[in-house]
Amino acid sequence: MISVKNISKKYGNHYALNDISFEAEAGEVLGFLGPNGAGKSTTMNIITGYIGCSEGDAFIDGVSVTKEPLKAKSKIGYLPEQPPLYPDMTVSEYLEFVFALKRVKGSRAQILSEIMRKVRITDMFHRLIKNLSKGYKQRVGLAAAMVGDPSVLILDEPTAGLDPRQIVEIRSLIKNLGRDKTVIFSTHILSEVQSACDRIIIINEGKIVAADTAAGLEERAAQTINIAALGDFEKAESILKDLPEASAAEVTERGEVNRFSITATAGVDLDIQLPSAIFNAFSEAGVTLVSMSPSRQSLEEIFMDLTTKGTVTETITKAATEEIKDDGNL
Ligand code: ADP
Ligand code: MG
Repeated sequence: MISVKNISKKYGNHYALNDISFEAEAGEVLGFLGPNGAGKSTTMNIITGYIGCSEGDAFIDGVSVTKEPLKAKSKIGYLPEQPPLYPDMTVSEYLEFVFALKRVKGSRAQILSEIMRKVRITDMFHRLIKNLSKGYKQRVGLAAAMVGDPSVLILDEPTAGLDPRQIVEIRSLIKNLGRDKTVIFSTHILSEVQSACDRIIIINEGKIVAADTAAGLEERAAQTINIAALGDFEKAESILKDLPEASAAEVTERGEVNRFSITATAGVDLDIQLPSAIFNAFSEAGVTLVSMSPSRQSLEEIFMDLTTKGTVTETITKAATEEIKDDGNL
């Protein structure tokens, strides 16, 4: 298990990481998602003890990376963004070298052939690394990370630069590895985390902006219903304003047909409660409703929202205003 506690990393006056904390359990695949420059590699380099941090600490199965670096590192397999391969070695020479470097005990031939089988490079064991395709090089890097059977695997953008077929293969490999290990892998591609991860951490500008399952993130996303009504605009607008099931009503069109985008109050569902409240209120007041359609933010939109400065501030401001309003009601 990995536990990251209040890590910050400063380069000059700039915080590359600002107070990052999270945990990853055994048997969990954690996706580390963020745009370029967000701080993914920095976080991974700190967890693996490759670089130091300005504040905080990371623990691997309870062992501090800053206080007992060797012991902590022995539990980690790391695939950096640029795997440190030796191009003039063959695959088997390189893995034998890593085996010796990590001082692994047991039958070398047996252990290495098992790893090569798992990452599917057995056919390449006699090839020079420099002659391998990018996808195979990446697998050799992954094999090297797996030598010594570490309980934690940290993979920095393992699918970067691969073709779609290789991406699918690496992804399913990661999923399998996650059955008995703690795996963290970073990416800036959203669909990767959606399909391979149990949980997603979204990082932006050195801060964690969300940590949840894909389903959880989608559930928390803005949920609105788009409606169209005929007749008196003011009447329709005032009904929507007073509707307890709706927290906001935005006018999207005013004219012969009036269109609104209605946001549900927290806890009100978009399938039955909000549409029936709108329908009943309109029908009581004699407003003709002509269409109603729910709209949920996709994971892409959530990601864009969370990693685009302006929108994040907006969301936070809105949440803060709501808190103040709630206090007022008490
Ligand atoms: P990611 O892996 O998410 O693309 P990084 O962790 O590599 O992002 O970088 C996070 C931030 O830290 C970036 O703004 C980057 O420019 C900065 N950074 C990373 N390494 C250094 C360094 N050695 N010196 C100065 N700034 C750095
Ligand atoms: Mg990076």
